[in-house]
Amino acid sequence: MYDRLKADLQQRLTELEEQGLYKIERVLQGAQGPEITAKLPDGKTIRALNFCANNYLGLANQPELIQAACKAMNEWGYGLSSVRFICGTQEQHRLLEEELSAFLGTEDTILLSSCFDANGGVFEALLDADSAILTDALNHASIIDGVRLCKARRLIYKHLDMADLEQKLQEASDAKYRLIATDGVFSMDGDIADLKTICDLAEKYDALVLVDDSHATGFIGPNGRGTPEHWDVQDRVDLITTTFGKALGGASGGCVSGRKELIQWLRQKARPYLFSNTLAPAIVGATREALRIASNAQDLRNQLARNTMRFRKAMEAAGFTIRHGHHPIVPIMLGDEKLAVQMAQALLDEGIYVIAFSYPVVPKGLARIRVQLSAAHTDEMVDRCVAAFTKVGKALGALKS
Ligand SMILES: *Cc1c(COP(=O)(O)O)cnc(C)c1O
Repeated sequence: MYDRLKADLQQRLTELEEQGLYKIERVLQGAQGPEITAKLPDGKTIRALNFCANNYLGLANQPELIQAACKAMNEWGYGLSSVRFICGTQEQHRLLEEELSAFLGTEDTILLSSCFDANGGVFEALLDADSAILTDALNHASIIDGVRLCKARRLIYKHLDMADLEQKLQEASDAKYRLIATDGVFSMDGDIADLKTICDLAEKYDALVLVDDSHATGFIGPNGRGTPEHWDVQDRVDLITTTFGKALGGASGGCVSGRKELIQWLRQKARPYLFSNTLAPAIVGATREALRIASNAQDLRNQLARNTMRFRKAMEAAGFTIRHGHHPIVPIMLGDEKLAVQMAQALLDEGIYVIAFSYPVVPKGLARIRVQLSAAHTDEMVDRCVAAFTKVGKALGALKS
């Protein structure tokens, strides 16, 4: 049997390579940070400025977090060899849940191994076939999969299209419960969902609201509490899912946070919570520290905002087409798929590490390089990035004339 499958896979892998869709992993030779050492496929080792991590607050290699992780490991051990409800709940798990609820302005929180698991468990546990889920067309893969696992009717509305959402809410008027699910920030464009209108529509049509705030928790909103704070709708969002794998230290872990009975029910029924191992003690300890830092990180958030604006302004002045906005995700729109790949390669040769995204990750003809800023970048690093883009952009004819 395997011979046939093997031949088939080999064929399909070759096709991926031919289409330029085969993903190559660059192997880092040290910790994550604004500057990295990487080993290229040809064996060459390079130093490069890193503009493609979700390390928004620059905490991924923060000494305080490493210390907190070591301390938690010394105090609470390495692993728990259990799920939460058997013998995998330590006092620090409960404390982190309380601290997350306080940070996000919610009533209760459950921890999961990832936000992927949070989205994988939340829909199926709460909604049956008699209910309906309204989901943005560009929601994260984990929401798509979570919705697939759930028997509720699925209505996909056009990306950020509030008129289409309203129409879908009307179509779902016969459902027992309605739930609107959206990313707070969409990862390919850095655009922010209009939670104000979403909450208004939810009220008008009697629906629940779930926001996946993975690209927002810790740095969007006046106090970094995420997109609900940005829109001043914290008390109108029923559920938040988010990750600890981006701004909050970048290791792993995630949570579902929200109204008390919803979370209480998820603790009983969410399958990734019941059947997957508890979050490791070191990650719990370090995430508590990350949350303490994020609660008091106006300086880091200001630095991130300054870096973002510095980069956006300089890139526009240089003649690049970028998506407007304020988010540290800055898509440099190139259109042509080959140009995007060529440009990312040329930038790496200039010591700038960025990634090109093309179809099917983004729509055909909208290939781009996604740049992500971090509070850990210095002005000089941002300027070096712009200079390299300008040099390479000129050489490849990617600038507006
Ligand atoms: C990154 C991301 C996830 C996955 O988070 P993990 O904790 O790494 O599983 C889920 N949703 C969104 C919107 C994300 O950006």
